[in-house]
Amino acid sequence: MSPMTPVDDVVEALLARAVPLARAERLDLAEALGKILAEDIVASVDVPSADNSAMDGYALDVTDPAMHVGGLYRVADRIAAGYTGRPLTPSTLTRIFTGAPMPAGANTVIIQEDTRRVGDLVEILDMPAKADNVRPRGQDIDLGQTVLSMGRRLQPQDLGLIASVGVARVAVYEPLIVGLMSTGDELVEPSGTIGPGQIYNSNHYTLSGLIRQLGMTVMDLGLVADNADATQRALLRGAEEADCIISSGGVSVGEEDHVKAAVEELGGLDFWRIAIKPGKPLAFGNVAGVPFFGLPGNPVSSFVTFLLIARPYLLKLQGTTDTAMRHVWARASFDRAAGNRREYLRVQLNDNGKAELAATLYPHQGSGVMSSVSWANALAEQEIDQVISAGDWLKVFPLS
Ligand code: AMP
Ligand code: MG
Repeated sequence: MSPMTPVDDVVEALLARAVPLARAERLDLAEALGKILAEDIVASVDVPSADNSAMDGYALDVTDPAMHVGGLYRVADRIAAGYTGRPLTPSTLTRIFTGAPMPAGANTVIIQEDTRRVGDLVEILDMPAKADNVRPRGQDIDLGQTVLSMGRRLQPQDLGLIASVGVARVAVYEPLIVGLMSTGDELVEPSGTIGPGQIYNSNHYTLSGLIRQLGMTVMDLGLVADNADATQRALLRGAEEADCIISSGGVSVGEEDHVKAAVEELGGLDFWRIAIKPGKPLAFGNVAGVPFFGLPGNPVSSFVTFLLIARPYLLKLQGTTDTAMRHVWARASFDRAAGNRREYLRVQLNDNGKAELAATLYPHQGSGVMSSVSWANALAEQEIDQVISAGDWLKVFPLS
């Protein structure tokens, strides 16, 4: 039997093959949340566009010899945010408010709290240094600067940043279309009633949720019976309309497993034995040129392999540059013997009171135990041959 391929090698090989989607659309900024930027955003303005006051106070010229602590000065002008004032008159102050542009000739702002009103005049109680309380032009962004690069998933604060340089519409990638099929004669949709030997189709709901959480569109290829014909028909339908096809089940070595043969017939299969637990039988290939993932049928296995193996690939197809899963470190609060595949354990992370995270293991780690995934808030990685003892540091991947 061929040796099992390490998970990291599989992910690397997949990323090397993934060709980002070409379809982009131009959306209003407000519609672009969570989308992947398909262009660089270059500032055509300085932000801020002029030197302006960071505080409410008085603008003045620190180099004016008339200015000193204890001196009383006339307020010759007043500038609110949104307006421009006259150039500073020597030996006077200009009343200024936060965000208002500095008047020509002024180079500092004395905050209101460091002054005292004496009739019509203002006394200086403390002299600021040059440039104090002034936000210089371009402090945040310089004209010509790339503020965000293509491939970025747009967060609310990114929309704000783009707006701050006066861009109202952005090019983003259209959502990837992922064809999703569930194989197995035993499967019944949750709206139906199961008879002996049947189970409800749960994988569709988990996987479509995971796909939609990535901002992609699910094309439902339905329940697919365990025979060559039905499998090929579903695959071909997916290949016509989807950017990628994902199936669950039917990729093991039994004679009821038709997916591998069908994919080989319609395109090609690249690999399928991966050193990952749960989830060893996983197929990757293409159907008429459309990339195809055959995830294992066991619900926990399809969940884990989707996240660890399919997700980075799909993200790259979608045009995303950041494809890595975030990890943190946590202390095991359990012991566990080593294995010969890299294992992803369902754990809960909790603060252990010592400014560390503690990882608690779900007691039933079987690949059919969906409760473990729902209960968990992270997957802990157990390397091949790694013995885990309570107190050991574990690499964990938070699930949200
Ligand atoms: P298979 O990979 O087709 O041999 O399936 C492995 C196990 O996962 C079997 O117990 C199947 O009944 C189960 N299974 C397959 N597909 C699904 C599904 N869509 N939802 C829930 N369980 C499934
Ligand atoms: Mg099956």
